[in-house]
Amino acid sequence: MSNTVQTPVAFLDGIPSPKSPAGSPDSRLVPALIGTFHSNQVVHIECPRWCTADHMDEPSEPGHVTHYAETSGVEVASFLDDTTLAYALRASLEADPTSTDARMRAAHIMVWEDAGAVEARLTAGMAEELADDLVGFAVRLRQLARTARLANHDAPAERAA
Ligand SMILES: [Zn+2]
Repeated sequence: MSNTVQTPVAFLDGIPSPKSPAGSPDSRLVPALIGTFHSNQVVHIECPRWCTADHMDEPSEPGHVTHYAETSGVEVASFLDDTTLAYALRASLEADPTSTDARMRAAHIMVWEDAGAVEARLTAGMAEELADDLVGFAVRLRQLARTARLANHDAPAERAA
């Protein structure tokens, strides 16, 4: 027998009531599992359209539902160790609707390194600046590769189409 029950979202503390549940173009109502693994219930929460989270996947504590988008990343391997990534930089879109910080409640970009202890939170403008820096970094990385090939008399590798 399931310990999951249906409860309207308005009865739970810490979960904002949807302002216009059926009419908002930026969000939708989705089922979410709220509670613990041993005792939980399904409620419907307002979820931004960009959110790809499965809020039924595992229970969230009341007031701790976080919305996030699919993660993108770039991985850096080393020819000295083919079993472990040297770096793995990731980015995702996230919003924490119950945060006391308005910047955290808003959709924002989270950037982190897999082995790192700190997550960077970026506004859209900060993310655009970072993207510009990364484009410049990519151009410089290609220049370094070209220089290394010339120094080693190495022919360019065939690239996948
Ligand atoms: Zn969501």
